[in-house]
Amino acid sequence: MSMPVERPIHCLSFDVEEHFQVSAFWSDARRQEWDRYESRVERNTRLLAELLAKHGMKATFFILGWVAERHPELVKSLAAQGHEVASHGYGHELVTTQSPARFRQDVRVAKKILEDLTGNPVVGYRAPSFSITSETAWALSILVEEGYVYDSSIYDRFRRTESEKRLACGFEIATPAGKIWEVPPSTIEMLGLQIPVAGGGYFRLFPYAASKNFLRRLERQGAKLVMYLHPWEFDPEQPRMDGSWLSQFRHYLNLHKTEERLIALLEDFQFGAIAQVMRPLWLLEHEKRASEALECRS
Ligand SMILES: [Zn+2]
Repeated sequence: MSMPVERPIHCLSFDVEEHFQVSAFWSDARRQEWDRYESRVERNTRLLAELLAKHGMKATFFILGWVAERHPELVKSLAAQGHEVASHGYGHELVTTQSPARFRQDVRVAKKILEDLTGNPVVGYRAPSFSITSETAWALSILVEEGYVYDSSIYDRFRRTESEKRLACGFEIATPAGKIWEVPPSTIEMLGLQIPVAGGGYFRLFPYAASKNFLRRLERQGAKLVMYLHPWEFDPEQPRMDGSWLSQFRHYLNLHKTEERLIALLEDFQFGAIAQVMRPLWLLEHEKRASEALECRS
């Protein structure tokens, strides 16, 4: 069967949280005051949805349960527009600071809130600050047990070169509870290291031309790009939070440039939601594995 030549579709995702909930500015005292801060997440997320609609593209929104409870119409509207609603957990606590029981409760409650709002199953999870590491690998079993199909929380910037297959469609991780798909944000190999190029602070740090160059290189290697950004990164007017110099630098760097860079990205690349982009590859992978042919190409 011959396929028409099409632009490859990559994965675009947003972690939907308030500007005061980020890990860099976390403190237990501030956590107690969340309800007293000005909420800006709905306005910022709706702006993103408008940009996506203008370009006819869909994305995955990993939404905090805490945010979903306070902005139910936002969640419903994203789902109604055809975006993937996925889970960012409930309370934005790093997995590395949670017990397994607490983590289970956090991902269970968030999933239920989102599913009750949208009526659709929530299959994807992303941990706050990519905090699933080798020390918190137990979290993956819990995600399987709680009904998640894929995870996008492992950001190992020092990992060695992966196979083309792994780059192209994520990879399966076997856990005691069963298998889960891992969809890590894109990194590019330079000088033997995996340099993050896939979003957030790195997308704001590098000039757009450099990001585009990195991403094109990954695309030529047959990779599926997995990009991530946050609604607060599009809000240069957000109130400033107290924190360390480094946290402030990273959080506020180039906020006024993110919107124009995302527009350029949407013009230069084609994006969709993670479940939508990856599912055919996962099915293909299963079929091919069943027939002992282990190649996976999009
Ligand atoms: Zn987050």
